[in-house]
Amino acid sequence: MAAASTETFDICVIGGGATGAGCALDGQLRGLHTILLDAVDFASAASSASTKLVHGGVRYLEQAVKGLNLEEYRMVKNALRERRYMLANAPHLAHASHFLVPVYSWRKAFYYLVGMKMYDAVAGKGNLFPSSFLSCKETLQRMPGLSATGLRGAVSYSDGQFDDARYDLALVDSFVEAGGTAMNYARVTAFERATNGALSGALVRDVVSGREFLVRARKFVNATGTGADKIRKLANPHLADRMRPSKGVHLLFPAETFPGKDALLVPHTEDERVIFAVPWQGRLLVGTTDDEVSPATRMVVQKNEANYLLRQLNPYLKIPLRPDQVVSGLAGLRPLVAVQHHTETSRLIRDHEVELDRASGLISILGGKWTTHRLMAEDTIDKAQRELSGAVSPCKTKDHPLSGAAGYNDGFARELEKEYALPADLAHHLAGKFGTQARRIVRLAQEMPEWKARVAAALPVIRAEIIYCVRYEMAETIEDLLARRTGVQMISWRAALEAAPSVGNLLAREKGWDAQTRDAAVAEYSRKIRSYLQELGLNES
Ligand SMILES: Cc1cc2nc3c(=O)[nH]c(=O)nc-3n(C[C@H](O)[C@H](O)[C@H](O)COP(=O)(O)OP(=O)(O)OC[C@H]3O[C@@H](n4cnc5c(N)ncnc54)[C@H](O)[C@@H]3O)c2cc1C
Repeated sequence: MAAASTETFDICVIGGGATGAGCALDGQLRGLHTILLDAVDFASAASSASTKLVHGGVRYLEQAVKGLNLEEYRMVKNALRERRYMLANAPHLAHASHFLVPVYSWRKAFYYLVGMKMYDAVAGKGNLFPSSFLSCKETLQRMPGLSATGLRGAVSYSDGQFDDARYDLALVDSFVEAGGTAMNYARVTAFERATNGALSGALVRDVVSGREFLVRARKFVNATGTGADKIRKLANPHLADRMRPSKGVHLLFPAETFPGKDALLVPHTEDERVIFAVPWQGRLLVGTTDDEVSPATRMVVQKNEANYLLRQLNPYLKIPLRPDQVVSGLAGLRPLVAVQHHTETSRLIRDHEVELDRASGLISILGGKWTTHRLMAEDTIDKAQRELSGAVSPCKTKDHPLSGAAGYNDGFARELEKEYALPADLAHHLAGKFGTQARRIVRLAQEMPEWKARVAAALPVIRAEIIYCVRYEMAETIEDLLARRTGVQMISWRAALEAAPSVGNLLAREKGWDAQTRDAAVAEYSRKIRSYLQELGLNES
């Protein structure tokens, strides 16, 4: 707060999702004095509600080929190149996976195999594993939950999977390690201008204390996702809307409901899209939907959306999933950019655009996807540097290991387990969420043995992890801790309810809250989680 309100920055990045955190890191690494502001928490919007795929998008490649759309082809190619950087820069948070597309006719088997071979070819040197055809027997061995009726086999291809919320936090952490200033719960509400009309300051409301302050910078970058039009209009009320948000939801089920390590791609939905069922951190993640946002849109998973997902997936399963098996869910808004000639949001190209408003100097980075966040940031900071000094310096993020990646290898969880005599599940959890930074959490637990206790009986999340995230990762609320920092809310809404009181206690201890403030925070969070359960007709136990 002191730095934010007194210093003059080269760049002020507004929005701490994937795009903004990527921009901030890129700017700071190029030597630009950068500040990153988010109105809520880092990764609290779309950037923690994704399907968690680091991918070019096989569906987008199909659309590009069928529609002879060069723009869409270029987008897939760029994303496949970015996939490699994303996996290499944070191996604790992202990994390569096999995806299977089940086929029920030889014609389709041929079609998908040719398609996936093209996908491999577009990835070029960055391809993860070669795609191949699997016989019916091989398919059922690898995916025993698949229905065998009429099955000819499957086409296997490769893509990446990642922990989106933690990846965002690792970008923020890396930015701070590089000397940047980051603030969450800091909402930009207005701009100040120089006499020539160019933006010179952003009025910021510290949502926690209610205080207002001015952040001075030479250039402002708007990376607010679906909020982009609001910031654009604060800068220049004459600008027309560009964003066309679409809602997408996911459901999570126990992993046992669909055993196996590989992810399933359901190639046809009733609205001509694809959906995924992917093993993810001991769960099965099923999604997503794609619905244009209307004034009536609510940011919760609704019954009709859950029913839609089950209706698309269940015909492919030996034992259909039931709504009462849902353990948690996610809802998010895609920051799509409007294109005149397309009517459905599912047809909008997931490409990005860097927009400069000449009147105010505001640079807005619009659209894109998680997988291309680094490239989006590179394009944005190139533009900002060109505007600031005319000279563009080399981007350094292609091979910049993120926080927790230095010294990490596949055997790190085992190393941690042995070095500190940890239970295997705890070592695995800490290594997968924090990489080599996990050592700092274990050391906290050694200093204060009562912090070795778990916050929910069935989950490997210990009190020391909560303390670490409050002290070093700017967690301000129970939701920051349970939804994004530790992932408990994703794994189970019920476990999140169980953990809320002890997490509330630890947060209150670190923040110096009184009992009333603590109890109100626990009650508010618990109410929210109960409402998610109620929405889907699920009970609390
Ligand atoms: C259902 C779904 C599935 C997806 N699946 C994938 C996938 O598998 N792979 C993939 O690559 N992409 C995927 N995406 C796309 C990807 O998640 C998004 O493109 C990406 O997260 C957008 O990041 P962002 O930073 O631009 O926006 P956001 O994550 O929305 O962040 C914008 C931030 O701006 C902040 N903000 C807003 N207004 C202000 C203000 N006034 N002051 C300060 N801060 C402000 C918000 O608090 C927010 O944190 C998916 C998206 C959805 C919704």
